[in-house]
Amino acid sequence: MMTNFEIPEDKFNVKYLINIIKEDLKEYQFETFNLGISYPYSVTEEEKLLLKKEFQYDLVVGIEKELLKKRTEVSFGDIDIIIDFNYKQIEYKITSLYIYGIYNKYSRELPQTIDFCYKCRGKGCSFCNNTGILRNISIQEIIEKYLREKYNFKELKFHGAGREDIDVLMLGNGREFIIEMTEPKERKINEKELLEIENNINNNEKEKIKISNLKITEKEKVAEIKNEKYFKKYKVTAECETEINQEDLDKITINKEFKIKQFTPKRVAKRRALITRERSVEILEVKKINNTIFEIEIKAEAGLYVKEFVSGEGEKTKPSISEIININCKCIKLDVTWIYRE
Ligand SMILES: [Zn+2]
Repeated sequence: MMTNFEIPEDKFNVKYLINIIKEDLKEYQFETFNLGISYPYSVTEEEKLLLKKEFQYDLVVGIEKELLKKRTEVSFGDIDIIIDFNYKQIEYKITSLYIYGIYNKYSRELPQTIDFCYKCRGKGCSFCNNTGILRNISIQEIIEKYLREKYNFKELKFHGAGREDIDVLMLGNGREFIIEMTEPKERKINEKELLEIENNINNNEKEKIKISNLKITEKEKVAEIKNEKYFKKYKVTAECETEINQEDLDKITINKEFKIKQFTPKRVAKRRALITRERSVEILEVKKINNTIFEIEIKAEAGLYVKEFVSGEGEKTKPSISEIININCKCIKLDVTWIYRE
């Protein structure tokens, strides 16, 4: 956020500047701030020392007195106020607010984040009816809708602890995420309000998602959850090209960890480096459903492409379930059933 101001004749006029700042920030709650000043190039080092002692000091005290109760000396405040006399502008950097939560996803048509149109990349075109968005709604947009009923902020960013494909359900203990609200006007968010928002989402969106554990968190937590490499349990439904019998399925070894070599699958090749990755997998259960369909439960290391582990994708994933049973099969349904966080 930026304001331009005219420099008055008595350039370093505390009252004048405080009035501008007060007007600019009248809608924003904040309790702590940091002040930075770029003095005019014409000011000498000596003059600068004096200005810091008097003008800058008076300005800080004035902002404290007029706009809030206290100021922090830490480098991270609710707002950074940067006054630049050379460019005649004041810049405000308003610190984002972060909310932690866990989601379950019960729909196979729901992306985690906004699904921007791939033809126009969100600008709007005839393909997407000028919306810039391909699907109606994502988990991110559902949560945003309920937060906006209560809070005023500029943008909502969604930071997930990984993601599942659109057609994959997220069951069991759910996936962690952090919501970032940029340039928030309210900073006094309490747990009771968050619980209310959580209940509203869970009552109205129960066919799509469930949200739990909403609480205020810190920026540092974003990197933390993004870097977590958890094992996950999946329930996979697979369909075979030809009929299968129990003997075929008995070839799948249960409760033994083994290593999979996996070259980047075609469907993610545009977004991921083309390399061979090694991931460990353990098959926990195999169940025949009918003559061509069976279910397996697996525990897999973070980063395994499960669909390709089933099909083998030619020979790009080795070994694969197709290879083990010696019948081509593919994943027709996939659910994450547990994330091992310990
Ligand atoms: Zn478009």
